[in-house]
Amino acid sequence: MQSKEIREKFLQFFEIKGHKRLRSSSLIPENDPTLFFTNAGMVQFKNVFLGQEKSPAPRATTSQKCMRVSGKHNDLENVGRTHRHHTFFEMLGNFSFGDYFKNEAIAFAWEFLTQVMKIDPKRLWISVFREDDEAALIWEKEIGIPVSKIVRLGEKDNFWSMGEEGPCGPCSEIHFDLGEKYSCGKPTCGVGCDCERFMEIWNLVFMQFDRKASGEMTPLPKPSVDTGMGLERLAAVVQGVYSNYSSDLFTPILQEIERRVGKTYGKDEKTDISIRVLADHIRACTFLIGDGVQPSNEGRGYVLRRIMRRAIRHGRLLGMREPFFYLLTDTVIKEMESAYPELNKHKRFIGSVIQAEETRFLETLEKGLEMIQQEIEAQRKAGSSCIPGEVVFKLYDTFGFPVDLVQNIAEEERFTVDMEGFELAMTGQRETGRRAWKGSGQERVGLVYQELAQRGLRSEFLGYEGLHAESKVVSLIRFGELAKEVKEGDEIQLITEKTPFYGESGGQVGDKGLISNAHFKMEVQDTQKPFGDLIVHSGRVKRGGLKTGEAVKLEVDRHHRSPTRLNHTATHLLHAALREILGDHVRQAGSLVAPDRLRFDFSHFEPVSEEDVERIESRVNEKIREDLPVQKIEMGYEEAMKTGAMALFGEKYGDRVRVLKIDDFSTELCGGTHVDRTGEIGFFKITQESSVAAGIRRIEAVTGPGALAYCRKLERGLKGLALQLKVGVEDLPQKVDRMTDQQKKLEKEISQLRQKLAAGGSGQNILDGMREKDGVKFLAVKSDVGDVKALRSFSDQVISKLGRGVALVGGVTEGKATLIVRVAKEITDKYKAGEIIKPLAALIGGSGGGRPDMAQAGGPQIEKLEEAMMSFYDSM
Ligand SMILES: [Zn+2]
Ligand SMILES: [Zn+2]
Repeated sequence: MQSKEIREKFLQFFEIKGHKRLRSSSLIPENDPTLFFTNAGMVQFKNVFLGQEKSPAPRATTSQKCMRVSGKHNDLENVGRTHRHHTFFEMLGNFSFGDYFKNEAIAFAWEFLTQVMKIDPKRLWISVFREDDEAALIWEKEIGIPVSKIVRLGEKDNFWSMGEEGPCGPCSEIHFDLGEKYSCGKPTCGVGCDCERFMEIWNLVFMQFDRKASGEMTPLPKPSVDTGMGLERLAAVVQGVYSNYSSDLFTPILQEIERRVGKTYGKDEKTDISIRVLADHIRACTFLIGDGVQPSNEGRGYVLRRIMRRAIRHGRLLGMREPFFYLLTDTVIKEMESAYPELNKHKRFIGSVIQAEETRFLETLEKGLEMIQQEIEAQRKAGSSCIPGEVVFKLYDTFGFPVDLVQNIAEEERFTVDMEGFELAMTGQRETGRRAWKGSGQERVGLVYQELAQRGLRSEFLGYEGLHAESKVVSLIRFGELAKEVKEGDEIQLITEKTPFYGESGGQVGDKGLISNAHFKMEVQDTQKPFGDLIVHSGRVKRGGLKTGEAVKLEVDRHHRSPTRLNHTATHLLHAALREILGDHVRQAGSLVAPDRLRFDFSHFEPVSEEDVERIESRVNEKIREDLPVQKIEMGYEEAMKTGAMALFGEKYGDRVRVLKIDDFSTELCGGTHVDRTGEIGFFKITQESSVAAGIRRIEAVTGPGALAYCRKLERGLKGLALQLKVGVEDLPQKVDRMTDQQKKLEKEISQLRQKLAAGGSGQNILDGMREKDGVKFLAVKSDVGDVKALRSFSDQVISKLGRGVALVGGVTEGKATLIVRVAKEITDKYKAGEIIKPLAALIGGSGGGRPDMAQAGGPQIEKLEEAMMSFYDSM
């Protein structure tokens, strides 16, 4: 039975049993910021089990995409070495939300495995929690399992809990006996043994209790069921193979790898490990990128990068020097798209993300691996089996070579890594960095802020409601030190209890404005939010002086803030439009919201096409014209997540957050300042689309008056051009087309003429008028080529034809008479072009000069050209 069929039969089986079939949720948990990746089928129902969310149905079934990359048993390093560990896997599950309980859950599982999958019941074993007599009895009495095959296990194996507190309960597991052959041979060998013989295939979790912080457990009023069965293991069992990698979930990928690397699987263990690593990792990479994760140096992106780099390194172990790993995505997608249609939608994107990382990393690898190998050889000769910390540090510091990779290589070579030495080198570098910083004013100011924030100082932000406020000065900073008093001319930082000034954050620039009282005036040039809720005004004291504790009036410059608001709200509209038009993988990677423009960086792998840019621009303008209300709602973080608000990955949010909601179009967490209705934005215009880094694009845009000014500037440019070319603006394209055509025609003509000239003018021999005296030839020849450059190249031809001699070339170029004298190199000791040309130049009313072999002159008297040329022969 094919894995596609197994997956489908599972879902069908539970549908028939009254379960609602639901789609797999994303690998990025939507409602759980504490979790890196979805690692079980129950993740998408977590809030349902916690009673915080309504269940989608009393019973549900899914085939869930899962990732497990951390934790003891799922150490990335294990993957590929064994036949059972995976980074990415699929979990088949059935769920009861306070509906059925142990009886049905056990009966369903048994029926599915023995009747639908037709697994030999003799090979199935059962484990239950030590104290769960109920489950043990069901297995024995209802199902008819011999007591000898029902094993009672402890908390570690058969008790499940969501956390310290909350739902928990016993589990029951179904194990498959792989046979004597796989036994460790110990007399105690059985279910629960660490060896390979008994393989757990299905875990049934009975959520029965609610655990309080005190540890006390009370029965849940409506107990629930959560089950999980790895499709990879089930497929191996059903298909009668020992290794998960020999099931049809992997064989097409293995075959593709064999074909690409030119090696056969199953001949040599080292090769096999690498092939399995590639097969596992390409599935993980394909699915992760498909769900919007991109390689980076932190968070989820870092996990992805580690997986990719491990795969690439194993590719290299198989002899691959060129990028090829990315090509394997096609096979994965082909095998999986029927169950996960989202993959096909991002097919090209996924391939290009992997390809880019692969190309870059192969270069790093090449340099780094060479260094490590040399080091290992050197150490071996010296009788050591340890890679020194400084070497690891150098690799890391100069090549960005990952430390865990050094550890892997060391392990393979039976070497150790001096991690202590490495840490020491790292700390040393940090220290040096710190010392270099010390003494700079920036750093001192930073320390002051930190100190103030730690003392609990914060400023209340009033700027959502208005641009004016009165407040008390709590801190003054001058020359990077706290000051009691400041005076005229000082550059200072000023902190008040309350302020309407927005401190730079979330991409939005800080406010400018005035702070004053009867004897003090300060121009605020910038407002920052360096720590927590500390808002710091920076600027120069224009007049008077000030002491801490005094009251001041704060006024935000409306000409600065107002257009910033338009740009900020427009940024949210743009983000939503990008996701709508380009796809869900679009994630904000950075932004700048200034009064005169906005800039938005986002994950996307290829340039946004001209049409898409227009579609995005149109969509944003549509939403502006709809004049939608822009709601700002303060609420708890958890609650905000439930509304589906987009939070920026990696951004830290407090318990209370502001949700910015623009109708149903956009919901994001944002503390910035915004318009009240989208109509205020007026007009949105994209000015540029470009690339920032691999996989990150940038859109720059203007809004409102800024957009109008931008369009006017373009228009003025066009009108100026039209005037110059004497056509209407709308006829410019045709005019320019015609001009380009004409230019091409002219260029062609010129080149033909040049050829003709080279061949001896219009049929006439250019040497016709040549004279000779004492073995030196003289020639004056007129040409009607139109420009000096052409005349000069004509003179080249003349002198080369003439040989040992002196030539004068003349012509009318750009309304002037032009003369060029050329002297053959070998006679420049006797004849000097610069000398010869002088009297001739005078005749045409100009002057000239040059080198001994070539000189040029120009003059206004065109009518004297002929005369000048004739006089050449006379003077020679
Ligand atoms: Zn054993
Ligand atoms: Zn925002």
